[in-house]
Amino acid sequence: MEFGRRDILISAASMVVGSSALARATPDRPLGYAIVGLGGYGLKVIIPQFANCTHSRLAAVVSGDPAKARRVAAEHGLPERSIYSYDTFDTIRDNPDVDIVYVCLPNSMHAEYTVRAARAGKHVLCEKPMAVSVAECETMIAACRAANRKLMIGYRCHFEPFNLEAMRLARAGEAGKIRYVRSEHGFVQRDPSVWRLKRALSGGGSLMDMGVYSLQAARYMTNEEPIAVTARESTDRRDPRFTEVEDIIDWTLEFPSGAIASCQSMYSANQNHILLMGDKGRIELEPATRYDGNHMWLGKDGREREVTPPPGPAKTQFAGQLDHMAQSVRTGREPIVSGKEGLRDMRIVEAIYRSAREGRTIRLDRRT
Ligand code: NDP
Repeated sequence: MEFGRRDILISAASMVVGSSALARATPDRPLGYAIVGLGGYGLKVIIPQFANCTHSRLAAVVSGDPAKARRVAAEHGLPERSIYSYDTFDTIRDNPDVDIVYVCLPNSMHAEYTVRAARAGKHVLCEKPMAVSVAECETMIAACRAANRKLMIGYRCHFEPFNLEAMRLARAGEAGKIRYVRSEHGFVQRDPSVWRLKRALSGGGSLMDMGVYSLQAARYMTNEEPIAVTARESTDRRDPRFTEVEDIIDWTLEFPSGAIASCQSMYSANQNHILLMGDKGRIELEPATRYDGNHMWLGKDGREREVTPPPGPAKTQFAGQLDHMAQSVRTGREPIVSGKEGLRDMRIVEAIYRSAREGRTIRLDRRT
C-alpha cells in the first residue's frame, strides 16, 4: 500500500496533537512562547488561545509599543524581564522561560526575526506566508538547522477539523479519482494605509496573504505537488489601494496525475471556498478556512449531505497548532508543517508571480 507524504502528515497530526499518552510520559512543564508583534493576530487571536492549550503557555511579549507590551504582560502575569522591544529582542537568549518564539509580524520581517530567534537558541513558529522570497525561506531553514532548532509555519488549517476531515475523505477515495480542485480566498481590504498594501512590508498583495490558503488547499486536497502553473493578474491600478500590490490573481496548477487546480485570491471581495471534484463525487467547504463556523458537504451517488467532522483532539485549531509545536520540540520530531512546507509554497508563489508577469506557463522543478 502506498501512502502520500500528506497521509503521513494527517496521521502524524492526529497522533502528535492528541497524544495524551505521550503527554503523560513526559515531564509536563508547558513550553513557553514569546509572541513577537502584538497586532490583530498575535494579540487578539493567538494570546487568548493559550487558555485552550495543554503543552504551551505565554512566557514573553515582544513589541514596538512599550505601553501595550506592559499592559499585555500585566494582564497575563508576566514579569518585567519578559517584555522585549525589537531592539532588545536578542537578549531573549538569556530568558529560560522562553522555548519558542512565535513571529506574528508583517511578512517582510518574518525572516529577520526567525533568524534572530534561532541564533538566540529558540525554536520558531512563524506566521504565513513564511517570508517574501524563496531565498529568505532558505536562509530561515538554514539558520534553524545550524542552531539545531525546530521551525514551523502557522498553517493552522492542518489542525482544523473540517480541513482534516476533507483531506481524509479525499484520501479515502470518497470523491473517486481527483480531477479538479478549486479554491478562492479573499476579503475586502478597505484601508489603503495598511502594511498589507505596502510591498516593502507585505512582499505582495492578496496572493501573499489569502492566496496562500488557496494554494495550500490545492496541495493538501490533491496530496500532490504541482508541475506547472499559469497565472493572470487583474488589478485596477487607478485604485489607490493597489498602487504597489495586486488585487485579484488567478492561477491554474497542473498535477502529475492530470488533476487541475484553479485558484484565486483577491482584496476586493469576500470569499472562502474549497471544492474538490472527483469521478465519483465532490467535497465542498464554504466557508472553508475560517477561524470557526466552517461547513462541508459530500456529494456522491446523486445525493449531497452535510458533513460534521469529529471534534479535533485539541480544543481549537490554534491550540492544536501551538501544542503541536511544543510537542515537536519535546519529542524532537519535525513539525507536520515545517519550514520545508513554507518553502514549497514560496517556490510556487514566485512562479505564480512570474507567470502573471511574463504571460506564460511556468514549469515547476522537482524540488517543489
Ligand atoms: P497587524 O498589522 O494586525 O499586526 C502586526 C504587528 O506587527 C503590529 O501590531 C506591530 O506590533 C508589529 N509591527 C512591527 N513593525 C511593524 C510595521 N512596520 N508595520 C506594522 N506592524 C508592525 O497584522 P496581523 O497581526 O494581521 O498579521 C501579522 C502576521 O500574521 C502576518 O504575517 C499575517 O499574514 C499573519 N496572519 C495569519 C493569520 C492566520 O490565520 N494564520 C491571520 C492573520 C494574520 P507591535 O505594535 O506590538 O510592535
